[in-house]
Amino acid sequence: MDKRSAIAKIKELAANGSTDGNNLEAVFARCFKAVEKTLDITPFDEQLSAGISLYEGNMVQMQTGEGKTLAAVFAACTEALNGGAVHILTFNDYLAKRDYEWMKPVYDEMGVSVGYVTEKTDRAERKEAYKKQVVYLTAKEAGFDYLRDFVCFEPDEMVFPEKLNFAIVDEADSILIDEARIPLVIAGDLAAEDGSSTAEVYEKVADFSEDEFEIDEETRNVYLTDDGADRAEELFGCDVYSEEGAPYLAKIVACLKARAVLKEDKDYIVKDGSILLVDEFTGRAAVGRVFPGELQPAVEAKHKLKITSRGRIMGNIALQYFARLYPKLSGMTGTAESAREEFDKMYGLNTEIIPTRLPCQRTDHPLEMYSDKEEKRKAILAAIREAWGAERPVLVGTESIEESEEIAAQLKAMNVPCVVLNAKNDTEEAAIISQAGDQGAVTISTNMAGRGVDIKLGGADCKNKDFVVEAGGLLVLATSMRESSRITRQLRGRAGRQGDIGESRFFAAADDEIMSKFELRKLAGRHFPDAHIDGAIDDKALLREAERIQRISEGDTFDERVNLMKYTMIGEKHREQTFRNRKSLLDGSHNTEMWQNNCPELFEEATEKFGQDELQKKQNLILASLLNEFWCDYLDYTAYLREGIHLTQVAGRNPAEEYNIACEEYYDNASETLPERMAEKLEALLECSSLDEYEVPMPTRTYTYLLDDMAEEFKTKPLLLNVFDEEEEAPAKKPEKTNEPKEKKGFFASLFGKKK
Ligand code: ADP
Ligand code: MG
Repeated sequence: MDKRSAIAKIKELAANGSTDGNNLEAVFARCFKAVEKTLDITPFDEQLSAGISLYEGNMVQMQTGEGKTLAAVFAACTEALNGGAVHILTFNDYLAKRDYEWMKPVYDEMGVSVGYVTEKTDRAERKEAYKKQVVYLTAKEAGFDYLRDFVCFEPDEMVFPEKLNFAIVDEADSILIDEARIPLVIAGDLAAEDGSSTAEVYEKVADFSEDEFEIDEETRNVYLTDDGADRAEELFGCDVYSEEGAPYLAKIVACLKARAVLKEDKDYIVKDGSILLVDEFTGRAAVGRVFPGELQPAVEAKHKLKITSRGRIMGNIALQYFARLYPKLSGMTGTAESAREEFDKMYGLNTEIIPTRLPCQRTDHPLEMYSDKEEKRKAILAAIREAWGAERPVLVGTESIEESEEIAAQLKAMNVPCVVLNAKNDTEEAAIISQAGDQGAVTISTNMAGRGVDIKLGGADCKNKDFVVEAGGLLVLATSMRESSRITRQLRGRAGRQGDIGESRFFAAADDEIMSKFELRKLAGRHFPDAHIDGAIDDKALLREAERIQRISEGDTFDERVNLMKYTMIGEKHREQTFRNRKSLLDGSHNTEMWQNNCPELFEEATEKFGQDELQKKQNLILASLLNEFWCDYLDYTAYLREGIHLTQVAGRNPAEEYNIACEEYYDNASETLPERMAEKLEALLECSSLDEYEVPMPTRTYTYLLDDMAEEFKTKPLLLNVFDEEEEAPAKKPEKTNEPKEKKGFFASLFGKKK
């Protein structure tokens, strides 16, 4: 549609026209008036333009502070009034509630029902909330509700909508790219495993030496060497590469990794006797997020904490797949442009750029490069000190909690007071960040803490605005180069909102981790500073190469995400089928006749004994429970496959393909056994004197959490994928027959070797 004429038409209708009907122009015009009436502001053309793009299912780039919250309301009302439900997926719970409360008057005026869900919302309230036409909530809460329904046995207790329709994702690059791979997990106490043995394993491997295991620096994975495998065999009394030894292998590797690779305060923090993971992107401790599989108990063993038993994983879904469950998807963020290709490739979303309403008055300084971290830190501290001396607000974006704490301590020693935003004062975050633009404020924050909260110059009430404007507006300092330029841009964008004056500076050191990882020394050659240099280095060639590193890193992580899908798509297909089947069983939309068809005699006997309707209900329940069991086994099996899959490179096979074949085979074979397993259950049922006597296995307790797969499990794959890509280039290459470790690792090889 021609947006310019549509916007003109909308404003004309709003001013003096008939706004009947539910076509886009009419709804937008009514919404325009509703906003003026209830919020006492006039929507900007840019917001109407963004609203149209959202409604049409695009990824919209609109700068921070330009008013995306309101733009989404236009799209949501239009969809709702045309009969479709809308979920607005916010960045966090705080914003779900804030945006709901803020925009509710507009929805009321429009006659559109609206609700919100946060972590605190109980089950009954959720059910009601999902009946509203528009719901504000995080992708995490929505995803968890989807998973919870899968382990729910009472149709009345299921809360999630039968059919999803339209999602508008706020801060979309965060959910759809940065957090896309993080799986939401539901576990239940179906068969709680014993946690004690991890502590024992940790003790046993505590003195493993450098010859006994290897660390892959890039993937941060740990492997046993042949010596290590022999030693483990001695300690545990079985070949760790055999089927019987596999559970030990997983524990051993996890314990070694917890000991040698994972660092306190960088990868996790210990708080109140439990381990909290640090989110790589927000740099915050992620409450409820745990290391996957054996790693969590291993880290607990390392700190001699109580080992938490998490029961069995009953379901999981990565955020990116959850988002795809919505047939219609759109998103908004201040930084979409550089991820344009990814939005297109992964989600089929077209990116539209909405220009800022007022010209941007922020000065973005080019990268400032230092010879080493100490020199860089000196420059950062000096910049903070200078701003503070002039009472100019400064926001420092750090890479980790550790770095935030260090800077804060150094500032304290210099008598510069500051506020640190991180896991430890998480709840106050929004309130603190809203004051970050006030006179004299010094705020140290990890990557994206407080995202979505407005930083107004002169404080939340703008009291000291004149002073701060005079001082140059908000100064943002980014302390290092990030894996993605998007993150740097996000940080810079915290200054200069709505045409405000502002400034951003961006620091790096030649010995920063990212520079070593991508080999700046090689790229820069003789321009690389080998000795300490005082002050910023003004060498164009060096700066150019340093900036190139960011692009290399971006390309790498993007390829990694695309490649990963080769492993995850198959599970998504199977999950979708299994979830759908189970749901239709319980809500009665589908009666199964498994017993009738597969064991008619037994069924007849049971009908006489218990009555047909009652028996059918019981059958549905038993089958639902069996599907849970089936799915648990599938998840265990595939997790196990993934752990072993790097070994397929030994056999020279294509791991992704082998993995897919193995999953498909397992799924098909296990499905085929379902009738038989159902028949066994019917036999057991017939032994009972009443239907109630037969207890259907179901969890008494379930819990949900986020797995940080980036830090973990899937890190094995990039390694594999390199192998995979090489093979793609040279498909004719035959596997080397002489590879000797093959025998020892034969168990896995045989798993992948069979192609029926
Ligand atoms: P974004 O999500 O794009 O960062 P917000 O939706 O949080 O921005 O809005 C930023 C600020 O702009 C808020 O304080 C809001 O009240 C204000 N605002 C939004 N739209 C308008 C408007 N049409 N007129 C005046 N102020 C507006
Ligand atoms: Mg926002």
